[in-house]
Amino acid sequence: MQTSIATVSLSGGLAEKLEAIAAAGFTGVEIFESDLLSFNGKPRDVARMVASLGLKTVTFQPFRDFEGMPEPQRSRVFARAERKFDLMAELGCDLLMVCSNVSPDSLGGVDRAAADFHELGERAAKRGMRVGFEALAWGRHISDYRDSWEVVRRAGHPAIGLTLDSFHIFARKTDLKAIRSIPRDKIILVQLADAPWLDMDVINWSRHFRCFPGQGDFPLTDFMDAVLTTGYEGILSLEIFNDQFRAGSPRGVAVDGQRSLVYLLDQMRDHASPAAQATPQLPPRSQCLGVEFLEFAVDEHAAAGLHKLFQGLGFRQAGEHKSKAVSHWSQGDINLVLNSDTEGFAHSHQLTHGPSVCAVCLKVANANDTLERAAKLRDTPFRQPVGPGELEIPAVRGLGGSLLYFVDPASNLARLWDIDFVPAKHPAGHGSAGLTAIDHISQSMQYEEMLSWLLFYSALLDVTKTPQLDVIDPGGIVRSQVVQTADGALRIALNASQSQRTLSSRFLSDYSGSGIQHIAFGTDDIVATVKALQANGVKLLSMPENYYDDLEARTDLSAERLDVLRAHNVLYDKDETGEYLQAYTEGFQDRFFFEIVERRGYKGFGAVNAPIRLAAQARLAPPAAA
Ligand code: MG
Ligand code: MG
Repeated sequence: MQTSIATVSLSGGLAEKLEAIAAAGFTGVEIFESDLLSFNGKPRDVARMVASLGLKTVTFQPFRDFEGMPEPQRSRVFARAERKFDLMAELGCDLLMVCSNVSPDSLGGVDRAAADFHELGERAAKRGMRVGFEALAWGRHISDYRDSWEVVRRAGHPAIGLTLDSFHIFARKTDLKAIRSIPRDKIILVQLADAPWLDMDVINWSRHFRCFPGQGDFPLTDFMDAVLTTGYEGILSLEIFNDQFRAGSPRGVAVDGQRSLVYLLDQMRDHASPAAQATPQLPPRSQCLGVEFLEFAVDEHAAAGLHKLFQGLGFRQAGEHKSKAVSHWSQGDINLVLNSDTEGFAHSHQLTHGPSVCAVCLKVANANDTLERAAKLRDTPFRQPVGPGELEIPAVRGLGGSLLYFVDPASNLARLWDIDFVPAKHPAGHGSAGLTAIDHISQSMQYEEMLSWLLFYSALLDVTKTPQLDVIDPGGIVRSQVVQTADGALRIALNASQSQRTLSSRFLSDYSGSGIQHIAFGTDDIVATVKALQANGVKLLSMPENYYDDLEARTDLSAERLDVLRAHNVLYDKDETGEYLQAYTEGFQDRFFFEIVERRGYKGFGAVNAPIRLAAQARLAPPAAA
């Protein structure tokens, strides 16, 4: 199907928007009147620009407060429409979008509205143009697509059709069933927007919180199912009003838009309709079996510090890379890679960000299929030269310029540690501290990036997302959302803050960008692990006495158990499925830190304890620069 996006969805000037839209692979664009008015040039210049980019202007909008007007406004409205048709002729656009009237002057009545549209259809047809009618969720008389359809049906004019916009339909929780009985040739345009379910005024909800399909809560596959059932094969257009998008880069947001449509259509792959059948197939969402390794980029100085910390955490140096200054550390099912090479990707990441996690390697069912799907989703593949006989591990760009590698059990990639590494000559280490696996990874990002990475992970991997959660930091609110596989083999927490003073934000400024802020390792016995860490000299975050007094008051934990938690600075939570115990290391050079968790059937991430942890970290943090 042809894809389009409204200029209003992106930041920047009109030229910049159009370039971003074309570069992201859209074939169509909806030109918003405001973008045209602020453009320093004639509509003809816009037409030339659109054509030279290989785009087509699919509609010009919005045309407001049209139907059902009494005289003398009615005559004025038709005169206004004629002027828009003149402008559209210059713009090279043949579809005018009319949204339902919100004016208090408008008169109701389906037949009156239908008669107005019939006349508008006559005028449009004379110029070879068409008109689409959309029911705004807050229209004065028409706010439901079933009523706008009745108007279009009674108008009975070939130049008049219906525009379906998923936002307006879901915002009023309108039944989708009636879409299926609309003749396909009467649907002139389908606009797609997702949104989180918010209990707020619908106009503000629409103008600030729309997002791309897959980023919100609307059941858009149900909407697509109904639309495709009509046999509709026309344009799918994204019309997204979103504050974060208008603060983001137009190129990045446009790519996200295209990715959202590829992913949405991919979810409709089994639909019997001609449009779904004609959609190119992608390999299925990649099944993630776990995190194969995390790679840390460090300079020599930080390498020494991290060696010490890894040993303190119970890791053993297992191997050394055949051709690079790279070491492999392991414990349980956890693999860490420490890269202090002075060339290549990790080195440049280190120069930009300082000591940091520069790559996450996922173990997936099929690495090549994952890479192919990623490329079709417009993710950015990454390659760098490898030594003779060494593996080329498939990779794409991840958060903050980091990499996401893919290995699988079926190919040579499974033998990564044997092929690229030799056993360490001096396998340093204190012995295991009982860490078994990576429980979760926490990434901090700019608020504007959060929806982007949410879509990135959900479109590529077979994961689900948890509802958004707001966590209280001493410096402000941190928004948190988790993407995870059903079995917990992969859990990634995405955190973003709008305040400059939260730990999450300070991480971003100190780190020069987004990245992994903390890594949680699982253990079967947190107390034994904490004891081992302390014996190895690892500094753990100290928790306030008040926390344990409160825990005593609100749980039925025994005095003995509370004493143990208190003595080892272990935080506690419980849900309907089990218990969760957490402890934290102090930060490594104030860049990242490690969490130790014992998960006993518990499904969450200890959100109730996050403010306690954040406050404890804030007490240790150097004061913010004035
Ligand atoms: Mg719309
Ligand atoms: Mg955590």
